[in-house]
Amino acid sequence: MNITENDQSKENRIYSEEEVTKVEKKIMDDMKYQIKRSEAITNIVRLLESEQSFEEIAGVILETIGEFLGVSNVSLCKWSVDYAQIMCIMEYVPDGGETVFDKMAVLATPEFVRETKGYIRYERRDSKHPDDRLEELGVQALLTAPITINGRQSMYVCVADTNSRSWKKQTIHFIFDVCKILQSILNRRISKNSIISSYTALKEILDNVGSGLYVIDKRTKKILFANNTMKTIVNDDMEGKFCSQFSLCGLKHNCVNCDILDEPCVYFETYDSRYQSWFDIKFNDITWVDGSTVSLCNVFNITEKKKIEKRIEFQANNDFLTGLYNRMRCESDMDNIITESIEKNLSGYVMFLDLDNFKNINDGLGHQYGDMLLKMISLGLQQIRGIENCCYRMGGDEFVIIVEPSQSSRLKAILKDITSLFNRPWDLNGTEYYCTMSMGVVSYPEEGCDVNDLVKKADIAMYDAKKGGKNRIEFYNNKEDSSSIKRLDLEKNMRSAIVTGGDEFEVYIQPIVDSETEECIGGEALLRWNSANLGFITPAEFIPLAEHLGHIVFIGEFFLKRVCTINKEWSDLGIDKKVHINLSIVQLVQNNIVEVITNIITETGVKPENIVLEVTESLAINDMNNMRKVIKEIKALGVEIALDDFGTGYSSLNYIKQMDFDIIKVDKIIVDDIVSDDYAQTFVKLITELSETLNVKVCVEGVEKRDQLETLKTMKVSMIQGYLYGKPVPYIEFEKNFLGIDRWDKTNFKRGIM
Ligand code: C2E
Ligand code: CA
Ligand code: CA
Repeated sequence: MNITENDQSKENRIYSEEEVTKVEKKIMDDMKYQIKRSEAITNIVRLLESEQSFEEIAGVILETIGEFLGVSNVSLCKWSVDYAQIMCIMEYVPDGGETVFDKMAVLATPEFVRETKGYIRYERRDSKHPDDRLEELGVQALLTAPITINGRQSMYVCVADTNSRSWKKQTIHFIFDVCKILQSILNRRISKNSIISSYTALKEILDNVGSGLYVIDKRTKKILFANNTMKTIVNDDMEGKFCSQFSLCGLKHNCVNCDILDEPCVYFETYDSRYQSWFDIKFNDITWVDGSTVSLCNVFNITEKKKIEKRIEFQANNDFLTGLYNRMRCESDMDNIITESIEKNLSGYVMFLDLDNFKNINDGLGHQYGDMLLKMISLGLQQIRGIENCCYRMGGDEFVIIVEPSQSSRLKAILKDITSLFNRPWDLNGTEYYCTMSMGVVSYPEEGCDVNDLVKKADIAMYDAKKGGKNRIEFYNNKEDSSSIKRLDLEKNMRSAIVTGGDEFEVYIQPIVDSETEECIGGEALLRWNSANLGFITPAEFIPLAEHLGHIVFIGEFFLKRVCTINKEWSDLGIDKKVHINLSIVQLVQNNIVEVITNIITETGVKPENIVLEVTESLAINDMNNMRKVIKEIKALGVEIALDDFGTGYSSLNYIKQMDFDIIKVDKIIVDDIVSDDYAQTFVKLITELSETLNVKVCVEGVEKRDQLETLKTMKVSMIQGYLYGKPVPYIEFEKNFLGIDRWDKTNFKRGIM
């Protein structure tokens, strides 16, 4: 192929035989070289199409070079990523040879490479570039040629020989040719690899992102790409409505971010009923592989997030038990409604509803039944026309109802519906139970514009309803404001009266006489509160509040002990008289009531047969079985039980039959008209007749006049209690007037009890 200039100039000369032989040999050698070179190059070119790895290919090339040139070392070196250093990435050494290039740090000298543009030709003879390090490595000749990738010198084919040699032009050409081939293999591989590998990597990344992604051609509306998440979201229906509906964001959505209405939304949340899911959608214009502008849509399923948000919002605004709105929501709703009513010059009502004796149901039946009842009541309230969405549970058994101005003309009907809701029994576990409520009503904005103020006023009215005997509705009126202050005062002082040990509570006793002999057979102990701050307070005033606040348990126990102690002192003096003690229903439903009574009897040493515990019939005692059991256990202690206030409210003969009472106390309300009222007379007669068959004694209370007594005497009443014989007085006075005991007479109380 390549004929040297020397060869051509000698063409026309006549050669001697020797010369001819020499020429012939040279030609032969050249031809051999050319053949070998062709073979080597063909070998290398064939690698262009090889599927082998680059390392394998490079290995073959280096070996081919090494064998063809017969050199001691051939290597492939490359710049480090930061172009600061050159490293040997592979080296061919013939059998028995030694590597040199990995030690050849000289090549890492940037100046060296830059100065020579990557081509280095070094021969031992030629000492222009003397380099001590090459010397040390024993390299006699060195030739390097650059490989350019992406327009940058990145690699070098380096040929070295430990034998001294000069680099022929042909050799240098050969190396450069090989470098070109390597270069094209590399470039081809790199571009192919980078696209494939970058596409694969990108697809993998996109498939693994949590959000759905798709690319849509803005013009043709064709979907150009969609990741797996997106396909899953739309159940592989990429051509379906879901993707096309947002095409190019042409729709105007309820956008979260953009306030320019004319512009198409690029970021919005949307609900898709087909997938029953919420999505967060975001569009971006991007440049596609072909250079066109396309729309990249990012779809994120935010259903879970929405659910959590909803739950948080629900929890913040709703009562978890009943599902009604809670206090917080009540306050914000009321605030808005009041503001609007002021603006529009309209008015409405706020109602505060509190269940009567709910505590008893909870304590008596168990919390699960209390909860059940609260749920049923809530449901019932929500079904009342006009207040469907305005019922709130404030906590415990307290509810607030807002009557909006639009409904205020229906107030009467609403109140009627609420009342009838509580007039029917509730089915708790197959048994019917009654539960009444007390309610206070206040109007807005007339009586207040402030949420707290209005709720407080409705509460005050509600409390008045309680005081008025429960199971009723009271309207707030301004005059009562002072009563709220008094109530707060009562609460505060009651607490401190309890904390200081109960000294402010005093025992009063009212005599009870035998109807025939008119002799005092004992008395009813009545509680009085002589408050250091508030003065004398009647039980009617503070007992409902003590029950409401739960203080009655302490006060009742304290009082019971105190009265038992007094009675024991009478016994010690040889006077055995019965003393009646009132037990609040709240006390009666305490789990440990039997234990409490037992302990007091033991501690005080009182004779149980001298004790009569008065209990009232209450609608709240729904769990008759349990009540019967408790009463039976109390009676087993030797104590008697009286049914108090018979004739008021809901007294039922059935109740007397079911409970094993010893005494029935007929209420003053019956006695008031006993002289003239036929009904009252029939009532008492009926009771006394029934009591005979049931072996129960009847005590009539509130007898003030003689003629009342005379009427009663015809009716087999056993006992009489009333002002006719005596008002409740401090027990010392009672002892003096009715028992002949004088505590000031030391002979009576040698142990100095007083
Ligand atoms: P109660 O158990 O029905 O007690 C009888 C009440 O009627 C007493 O009122 C008594 O003073 C009054 N009374 C008796 N005879 C007459 C009469 O002839 N005319 C008039 N006008 N009234 C008469 P008091 O002492 O004010 O007690 C009111 C209520 O307070 C009691 O009604 C009872 O339910 C409750 N209470 C009093 N002490 C206690 C107590 O220690 N524990 C509990 N849980 N409740 C008590
Ligand atoms: Ca009583
Ligand atoms: Ca009574």
